[in-house]
Amino acid sequence: MYLDKGKTDFNHYDVIVVGCGFSGAVVARELADKGKKVLIIEAKDEICGMMADYSDENGICIHKYGPHVFMLNDEQVLDYLKRFCELVPVTNYVHAYIDGKFVSIPVNFYSLDALYGEKKSKMLQEKLISLYGEGSEVHILTLRNSNDLEIRKLADELYNKIFVGYNAKMWGSKPEDLDPSIPGRLPIRVSYNNKNCKKKYELIPLKGYRDLFMRIVNSPNIDIMLSTKAASVISIVDKRIRVEDKPYDGIVVYTAPLDELFSYEFGELPYRALHFELDVYNGKREAPSAVTTFPMNFDKVRTTDMVELLEQKKDGFVANVSEFPGEYNKNLEHFNVPAYPVLNDASNSIITKYKEKSDAIDHFYYVGRLAEFKYFDMEASIQSAFRCSTEILEGEIQSDV
Ligand SMILES: Cc1cc2nc3c(=O)[nH]c(=O)nc-3n(C[C@H](O)[C@H](O)[C@H](O)COP(=O)(O)OP(=O)(O)OC[C@H]3O[C@@H](n4cnc5c(N)ncnc54)[C@H](O)[C@@H]3O)c2cc1C
Repeated sequence: MYLDKGKTDFNHYDVIVVGCGFSGAVVARELADKGKKVLIIEAKDEICGMMADYSDENGICIHKYGPHVFMLNDEQVLDYLKRFCELVPVTNYVHAYIDGKFVSIPVNFYSLDALYGEKKSKMLQEKLISLYGEGSEVHILTLRNSNDLEIRKLADELYNKIFVGYNAKMWGSKPEDLDPSIPGRLPIRVSYNNKNCKKKYELIPLKGYRDLFMRIVNSPNIDIMLSTKAASVISIVDKRIRVEDKPYDGIVVYTAPLDELFSYEFGELPYRALHFELDVYNGKREAPSAVTTFPMNFDKVRTTDMVELLEQKKDGFVANVSEFPGEYNKNLEHFNVPAYPVLNDASNSIITKYKEKSDAIDHFYYVGRLAEFKYFDMEASIQSAFRCSTEILEGEIQSDV
């Protein structure tokens, strides 16, 4: 199943899939189940993409690239995952560390209680209910434009204490310069609803992501080549795919960054990256929940206790993974894994050119968070992998007719 580059006959494969995160693994399996011979080429020395996990010396499961929890609405995705693993429900809460206090996130009435004390919190709650209705969710920017002075003051304070600092650290820029979808991800709730997940299911794979991925790619029709960058094998010449500099008649499904494939012809796509630090100790966690964000002070943006997050039965242990953001740079020792695409007019113009160039190539498909240059959660990645494999299989049927 695992192959050496030097000994591989690429023309033996109907499909080459680049990258083995959810996008690549799911497309590979869908096509393999329909009888296609698939080769996965993965740059890292392991599969799983950003979902890679491992067990430390205490048997604690650690998510290598930050905490990953399934938040799902789509029953098709749920059924697909259940084919390969047992999923267990979890409920995660998030707090932000502000002015020495742990404040519930997304902002809700518990947050106002923690920040302002009972009396002022009650007054603000009543105003919010009368203006926006109990149970509603209001965008921070809507609150900032309110006619009510107290609400505007509240909004300004939350905006400065939570959004400005967080965005400055996370994105290295001011909130106004960002895609409007970014502050919109952090609404204010007019209720005591403090659940982070708004979707129907919040789940983790019982035996971890590595085990899940091993099962997805476990098919007699799938081979994998690790530690191989796509550009060292695949090139595009006159809109045709070449593999090891020879014409390749099969299909390529590409889930890696497009700029790299085209030798950065139209410029590099900008990403934010994360550096992770792990601190495992025996003792009591100070934070009230598994996840704490740090909008003010500190260089880190988030700390997650993997023991609490995954509800692991490791009494007395705390396994804190802290995330430090920085500019992505493929040549650095840290910050060399692209985490979040920086979406703005300049990057949109660059990715559009790469996509146009890709669209003109026969038998070439791009899919996933890197190739599409979008923020995808795992559910969206699996959905787009389904769409891609359907498109490939339907295209084949049409060309046979
Ligand atoms: C810190 C963080 C936390 C997250 N938490 C959650 C969460 O809790 N829940 C959730 O639903 N989603 C979460 N996500 C999103 C989730 O990681 C993505 O949905 C998922 O990674 C998408 O899978 P993918 O296959 O498209 O990309 P990836 O997982 O990035 O897979 C792409 C693969 O391509 C490989 N590759 C890259 N370049 C090359 C190349 N040149 N040649 C060959 N291979 C290459 C990479 O090594 C990688 O294995 C989180 C993301 C981050 C950054």
